[in-house]
Amino acid sequence: METRDWKDSAYDLIVIGSGPGGEGAAMEAAKRGLAVAMVEEQADVGGAGTHSGMIPSKALRHVVQRMQENGTTGWGRRQGDRNWPSMLQMAKEVVRRQVNLRSAFYERNAISRHRGRACFLDAHRISINDEKGQQQGELTARAIIIATGGRPNPLEGLDFSHPRILNTRSLHEMDYSPRSITIVGGGPFACEYASIFRSLSVKVTLLNEREKLLDHLDEEIIEAISFHFREQGVLLRHGEQITEIQPNDENVELTTASNKRILCDALLWARNRRANSEGLGLEELGIETGILGAIQVNEHYQTTQEHIYAVGDVVGAPGLASASYNQGRYAARHLMDGEAPRQLVENIPSAIYTLPEICCVGRTEAQLTEDGVPYEVGQASMRNLARAHITGRTTGLLKLLFHRENLSLLGVHCFGSEAADLVHVGQALMDRREGNSIEYFINAPLNTPSMAEAYRVAAFNGLNRLRGR
Ligand SMILES: Cc1cc2nc3c(=O)[nH]c(=O)nc-3n(C[C@H](O)[C@H](O)[C@H](O)COP(=O)(O)OP(=O)(O)OC[C@H]3O[C@@H](n4cnc5c(N)ncnc54)[C@H](O)[C@@H]3O)c2cc1C
Repeated sequence: METRDWKDSAYDLIVIGSGPGGEGAAMEAAKRGLAVAMVEEQADVGGAGTHSGMIPSKALRHVVQRMQENGTTGWGRRQGDRNWPSMLQMAKEVVRRQVNLRSAFYERNAISRHRGRACFLDAHRISINDEKGQQQGELTARAIIIATGGRPNPLEGLDFSHPRILNTRSLHEMDYSPRSITIVGGGPFACEYASIFRSLSVKVTLLNEREKLLDHLDEEIIEAISFHFREQGVLLRHGEQITEIQPNDENVELTTASNKRILCDALLWARNRRANSEGLGLEELGIETGILGAIQVNEHYQTTQEHIYAVGDVVGAPGLASASYNQGRYAARHLMDGEAPRQLVENIPSAIYTLPEICCVGRTEAQLTEDGVPYEVGQASMRNLARAHITGRTTGLLKLLFHRENLSLLGVHCFGSEAADLVHVGQALMDRREGNSIEYFINAPLNTPSMAEAYRVAAFNGLNRLRGR
């Protein structure tokens, strides 16, 4: 480790932004003895991951799931039913606990925290400014990691200050309980909120510009979630362009290019996000940005200035807290050691917390077909598992893609209860240098009853198909 050569700077490392990306970087470096400063413009650490993205949305989802299981869904229709503001209170409590926990990490690892908006003065100096742009301080370091995240990217002219026009941030301030909502988007956030609101008996229209939902996923999983949404009563409208949005005190009226008119209590904008790369003074340093403001980096997350790294949502896809955290750790390792394990940033599982949830890791059928890989499919339906019968969570499937000749697992695609956890079983097998074979699921003793038994059912199904049985 080179850190002791870096004595001429006040800090070894400045991290800008305390979301998952910044936290991963700061902790990795501090644990290895680097002097680290964290600059965060918000009062509390945690970033969008803790305050407006992952944590609150999953806390809301959990409340809804519990309500569903207790048979108390729908605003005020039965005694004990909740309204949106009371659900938000429960989510805020989870956020508060997360902030306390994460703040303690900084104290324990002696990372100095600085509140303010960071802007580069030169390639090693950072100015810390208040909301009015007045400089409050200055920091110097040998290396800098930018982890400033992203934000909702609205249609031009869309006014998020209107109480009926929401985004994934302002949704957490909504002070009424809509009876109908139009969600604009077809990606993970749009689908997650469609699930949440529909489970609360809210009339949901999903207005998607593309031709299908979640189009980065395996086709069968897309079909499964689309079918499930339709069964639940979500109205799916694909290939639609919005031409006009008219909010008023009571509702919102939308018009599309195909001349459809949708009237609803609220509109939730859940389409693509934009990187927070403006105002950092990147241009003066020759650091380039691309589509939707994403900072351009090489495979080691280095910008054109090799001691300045960028990680997380500010560099674009996949836009996951899990990926951001590991990219931060990767960048910190790379700046300390000149190298870092690729495992940190490759084969990232993609979880989408609809009800039930979706999770995938590895390659899809479309990718294997395109690459000409000889593969076979093994499937298990959740409705054939004892554990699913006990919990009543019988929706969904587990799909394994494996190599026809050496039986190595190539992809896991799951829709159903506990999918986000289940996929890690397959991921662990795929990561093995030796012994990656779906025969593992046939031979290994698995807990009964457990959702993991789906792996055995799917492996038998695939091998039988291979043998023409
Ligand atoms: C509704 C929703 C649900 C999600 N659910 C999941 C999920 O279930 N699982 C998952 O893995 N991911 C999920 N995500 C994505 C996840 O939240 C993001 O990928 C993750 O937060 C990105 O981390 P980050 O560190 O790059 O940025 P952020 O979390 O956005 O943090 C960036 C931080 O930088 C600060 N900052 C910005 N500019 C400056 C500046 N100039 N100076 C100082 N500070 C600055 C910001 O205040 C912020 O605190 C969800 C996102 C949304 C919107």
